[in-house]
Amino acid sequence: MSTTTPAFDGGHQFINGAYRQGRGEEAKRINPATGEISETLRYADARDVNDAVAAAKAAFAGWSRRIPADRSAALLRLAAELDARAGQLAAMETAQTGKSIRMSTEFDVPGTVDNVSFFAGAARQLHGLAAGEYGAGGTSMIRREPIGVIGSIAPWNYPLQMAGWKILPAIAAGNTIVLKPSELTPGTTLLFAEAAAAAGIPDGVINVVTGSGPVCGELLVTHQDVAMTSFTGSTAVGRRIMALAARTAKRVHLELGGKAPFVVFDDADVEAAAHGAVAGSIINGGQDCTAATRAYIQRPLFEEFAARVAELMDSVVVGDPTDPDTDLGSLISHVHRDKVAGFVARARAAGATVRAGGSAPGGNLAGGAFYRPTLVTDAAQDSEIVQDEVFGPVLTALPFDSDDDGIRLANDTAYGLAASAWTRDLSRSLRASEEIAAGCVWINDHIPIVSEMPHGGYKASGFGKDMSQYSFEDYTNIKHVLLGRDAAAHKEWQDTVFR
Ligand code: NAD
Repeated sequence: MSTTTPAFDGGHQFINGAYRQGRGEEAKRINPATGEISETLRYADARDVNDAVAAAKAAFAGWSRRIPADRSAALLRLAAELDARAGQLAAMETAQTGKSIRMSTEFDVPGTVDNVSFFAGAARQLHGLAAGEYGAGGTSMIRREPIGVIGSIAPWNYPLQMAGWKILPAIAAGNTIVLKPSELTPGTTLLFAEAAAAAGIPDGVINVVTGSGPVCGELLVTHQDVAMTSFTGSTAVGRRIMALAARTAKRVHLELGGKAPFVVFDDADVEAAAHGAVAGSIINGGQDCTAATRAYIQRPLFEEFAARVAELMDSVVVGDPTDPDTDLGSLISHVHRDKVAGFVARARAAGATVRAGGSAPGGNLAGGAFYRPTLVTDAAQDSEIVQDEVFGPVLTALPFDSDDDGIRLANDTAYGLAASAWTRDLSRSLRASEEIAAGCVWINDHIPIVSEMPHGGYKASGFGKDMSQYSFEDYTNIKHVLLGRDAAAHKEWQDTVFR
């Protein structure tokens, strides 16, 4: 099993167009698939964060005034640069996260290149609705203006895609950015910034600081010169970030945790639903905020569904993430694997049945953070394994009787990021899409995302949208400009104030 990753000899900070060493604490990165140390890095400290914000602030004046066609052309060149580095990006993503090379090659890299291409077009479509001429003497117009320096913080599960989701709407709209990737997985974010420099995006427009959340992340959130915090990560950290951002009254965009329901009505195609449930729950090791985590099956189909899911889970190839035949690589770390295993162990102790998986594979995988695809039945609806984010390849399944119950159970968690409903009945489809409180409801599928469509949560899953034209609602200020034809024409309304 390969343990090598390209080294960032110049350092793990990318500030003002160049790599540099951080001046903060030293840390070791572990390859999660082997448990071996794969590199040593130096985190950013306050001086590095200040330098990155200063570089972004200095670059804002020029970048924000570029015409949309210029920003669009730069993004098209970036898409080509990333495409040319596809192999390097995929290998790095797999080495740092433990996810299968198939996921990195066929999902993460092309998805990111497509997202860059989308925002190259979107940069030229910054519209606002304008209405309300004032009397005879004026015309209103809308300007959509960039906000300034965006401070972004990203998680470890999809490092490259998250870099894209954070950077692209920000810079397409004319902002500049300082992005802190997860300290566990900075590699592809740094390569993204390097590719942007090669594409001719000016120095300082994209800066990357690598460091811990409590130090480096909090410095960014509380920085006076950062105009907005855009965060993707856990709900607990999101709550803290919102409180910290209040100190400087900055705008926040929060993409938080999820606990997606997977509702199968009694007219559904069971075989398709079982396959979709396995793919949707083990994707990225289940470390996906939209992964299927809670299956609710109408009672007549329950046994058939559970048996088929267990059978399919047992057939999943768990193994070396660099092997193209591997379906499921390792989880992000040994600590995280133990957390996932803890949820399953406690559910079992409380009387739940483990129908598939429920253990780590041994043999030549014993040193890595692996965990088998796991199906848990008979857990109580109010138990932690059903209510809390496990963030591993673990699916619970519970039966329901009436359609009302299925929908009620789907909505019965704090989260509301994504959901799916499986049925051939149009009115059930429409009902599920209306009544499930989530930012995305898939019918007869689970997971697909496209650059044109927004991604974002309801309830404790946060607010704000990534991808799509809707992301500009967060990354721009909307300014109303009233053009008075001549000053005297406005005298009439002014007379209502004083004559
Ligand atoms: P996390 O919240 O632990 O960390 C996310 C980022 O925040 C990391 O860069 C981390 O260093 C930083 N951070 C930690 N503490 C901080 C603090 N006090 N101040 C500022 N920054 C801080 O999340 P994670 O474990 O990296 O990722 C998994 C979580 O992300 C899951 O909850 C998952 O659902 C969520 N997620 C959500 C989406 C979405 O779009 N809604 C997408 C991917 C992941």
